[in-house]
Amino acid sequence: MRSPYPSPAAATDSWRLSFDGIDPRRLRERMVAEQIEARGIHDPAVLAAMAAVPRHLFVEDGLRAQAYEDTPLPVGHGQTISQPFVVALMTQALEVSPGMRVLEIGTGSGYQAAVLAAMGCTVFTVERLRELHVEARDLLARIGVKGVHFMRGDGTLGVPAAAPFERILVTAGGPVVPPPLMEQLEEDGLLVIPVGERHGSQRLARLRRHAGEFLAEDLGGVAFVDLIGDHGWQAPAPRR
Ligand code: SAH
Repeated sequence: MRSPYPSPAAATDSWRLSFDGIDPRRLRERMVAEQIEARGIHDPAVLAAMAAVPRHLFVEDGLRAQAYEDTPLPVGHGQTISQPFVVALMTQALEVSPGMRVLEIGTGSGYQAAVLAAMGCTVFTVERLRELHVEARDLLARIGVKGVHFMRGDGTLGVPAAAPFERILVTAGGPVVPPPLMEQLEEDGLLVIPVGERHGSQRLARLRRHAGEFLAEDLGGVAFVDLIGDHGWQAPAPRR
């Protein structure tokens, strides 16, 4: 697959030092082999995309050296980038193919959106926190990722102006599947979302819309940050 990053050298050079001279591409190949393939993710397009996207650029500066480890990491503002395996699991569960229109709720660092863009999708991604929205948009522009539309707002309302979507991915955990997202899913579309308790204990659900019904599957236990909005949890009271 052709790399979606036109000048990887420019993007990676300044980080070389934090990897003790190891090329980040080698760290990514190892991440894909040991954390993702070894645990049963087999979709070649998912593996190729995760081997291509420079994950170390999506974490906080001081955490670059840990970017390819088997763990979620802070991206600022109390939010996290998911563990690589969880990104791979959700991406595989979405069953995307090139050209699909995908709605992502919870832009965060922009990493998941970059992975979907690397797979040839047109991505609409919504973030409620202005700083993360701006930082992710700027980062993807800087490293030359195309095909991602950034929006700021309450993603539990979806994006009616761009609906319907063939795929919808929610990367924060709410109490229910937001009805507007179900409405904005195309016939035979898939919606992947963590649903459950507040503060990080959910089941990953996959819904398929077919013939006026939604068929649900349970893909296992996950721990995401809170989905906050009209069809999510209430925003925490501001700290005094
Ligand atoms: N997909 C991200 C990780 C998401 S972390 C990545 O690849 O880095 C979850 C994100 O969802 C956080 O940034 C949080 O601010 C955001 N979020 C929570 N509730 C939201 C809502 N209702 N609409 C949009 N974004 C929301």
